[in-house]
Amino acid sequence: MPTAVKITARCLDCGASVPFDPAQPRCPKCGSEWLQAEYDYDLARTIWLAHLHERPFSLWRYHELLPIREAPPTIAMGAGGTPLLRSIHLAPMLKLSNLFIKDERQNPTSSFKDRQAAVTIATLKEAGLTEMVVASTGNVAIAYSAFAARAGIKLWAFLTSLVPQEKMREVAIYGTRLVKVTATYDETKKVAAEFARQRGLYIDRGSRSIPTVESMKTLAFEIVEQLTQFAPDARYGRLPWRVPDWYIQAVSGGLGPLGVAKGFRELYHMGLIDRMPKLGIIQAAGCDPMVRAWEQGKAVADPLPRPSTHITTLATGNPGRTYTFLYEYVREHGGVFARVTDEEAFRAMHMLAKMEGLSVEPATAVAFAGLIQLVREGVIQPHEVVVVNATGHTMPIESHILGDRWARHVVLAQRGEGAAAEAPQEGLVAALSNLAAERYPRVLIVEDHEPARVLLRRILQSLGDYTILEAKDGYEALEIAQREVPDLIILDLMMPGLDGFAVLDSLKAHPNTAHIPVIVVTAKSLNAREQQRLLSQQAKLMYKGEFLSDEFLNEIRSVLAQIRNGTGRE
Ligand SMILES: *Cc1c(COP(=O)(O)O)cnc(C)c1O
Ligand SMILES: [Zn+2]
Repeated sequence: MPTAVKITARCLDCGASVPFDPAQPRCPKCGSEWLQAEYDYDLARTIWLAHLHERPFSLWRYHELLPIREAPPTIAMGAGGTPLLRSIHLAPMLKLSNLFIKDERQNPTSSFKDRQAAVTIATLKEAGLTEMVVASTGNVAIAYSAFAARAGIKLWAFLTSLVPQEKMREVAIYGTRLVKVTATYDETKKVAAEFARQRGLYIDRGSRSIPTVESMKTLAFEIVEQLTQFAPDARYGRLPWRVPDWYIQAVSGGLGPLGVAKGFRELYHMGLIDRMPKLGIIQAAGCDPMVRAWEQGKAVADPLPRPSTHITTLATGNPGRTYTFLYEYVREHGGVFARVTDEEAFRAMHMLAKMEGLSVEPATAVAFAGLIQLVREGVIQPHEVVVVNATGHTMPIESHILGDRWARHVVLAQRGEGAAAEAPQEGLVAALSNLAAERYPRVLIVEDHEPARVLLRRILQSLGDYTILEAKDGYEALEIAQREVPDLIILDLMMPGLDGFAVLDSLKAHPNTAHIPVIVVTAKSLNAREQQRLLSQQAKLMYKGEFLSDEFLNEIRSVLAQIRNGTGRE
């Protein structure tokens, strides 16, 4: 259906307004490259309030505020419309009550760059263009390759040679003309721009390209709609729609949050929301020009000539004016720029896969490492509604992230001539014997609160092979402890009925169970007398807010390692 809403391009430098034309990327009055799309917002508001809820959940449902005439375009293949997942384990670990994950891995080429490619390619197809150029740290090139193939548009992709081979091959399968540039990403962009200029081809200029910024808006629209559906009294006619307190994303050039910010502004302008979210903008420590500028209170970022992060996806050393726009947003509406190390990101990557079932790429993990940091620092408050963009899937996992020992090897004995008579089961049984569960250390979790019990179970499952026993209260704990004599007890202190102190007393009083190491976990801080009491029982003390700390995990590991050595298990 052709849209009735007119699109204009307004110059951010001289204010001139001209009809939108993708082939005309500069202001005809002053030559500025900073044009911004504007629409008939009153008309869009009327249409959305009446019809938005009837439309399929993809980014095309917002076509009145996109620079396209036909929606959905023929090239559509399910970009956007990704799920907003409620965090299950990470939220309680961080003591957050409203943590949501926007699962952008579920886009056609597994990253949120599919929004950018889908909208831009649709725009170019409508304008009759048949050839274009991108510079990329990988994901943009992959997304554009797929949509260009559908649109019959020839694509030139300039990739820095730092991009992993797997991503390069993914680009190549679509028939894209791939140019590897041995240089930084910022230099690669210059080479691509010069190539496009010489040939007169359209080039995606990131934050300066209207379709590119417009595409990222759809994230804001979807998040608001989805949060509104999560609300118990959700109804479209009931305004305002629900806004998160935080939008958190790992950034390279900062296009994502720039587009998202425009999306929220438009919703606000239309009276559909009544406040703006804070932005959590996270960079890799080896490429952090925005964070540096922010810390110095500067509105302009100094370019970083040699980014030094292993996370290539985030290696934009010169964010240019995009930083200034984000800086102004954060000054006005709140938020923060923060950095995390590659190692913190890799750890968060494990955490997210093991705790939420989401395998993300290292760039995405940067956002989650940032989340953890901001919660620990108290910048993000427990009750706040937080949305983190899970920007991309990891494909495939780079081996340095897993380390060794990530698989068990089962070898079936070679069969000789006469072996055919042997029961086939036997070889299998022998091969599987070193995976036998009776060799695993046994850990008893004593916790009355179910979500906390589930969380502890999941943490143990992800740490290694343990046989996990669970008790809902002190009485059940003592009964299981007597019967099973576990190798370790993780004991909640505050329980109704028989509390942790009483359980501990009973365990220590009985010769069967007196030797079992106990890790006591508690939510409230203990007074001196209580601490002394635990000390005298030789119990280790851990606070519930510390489940994310390496200390807690290392404590469990080391206690269990001692047991293993002592008892000869495994
Ligand atoms: C491009 C990309 C980013 C960075 O996004 P920008 O908003 O452009 O800075 C983060 N994660 C992934 C997976 C990406 O592909
Ligand atoms: Zn101008």
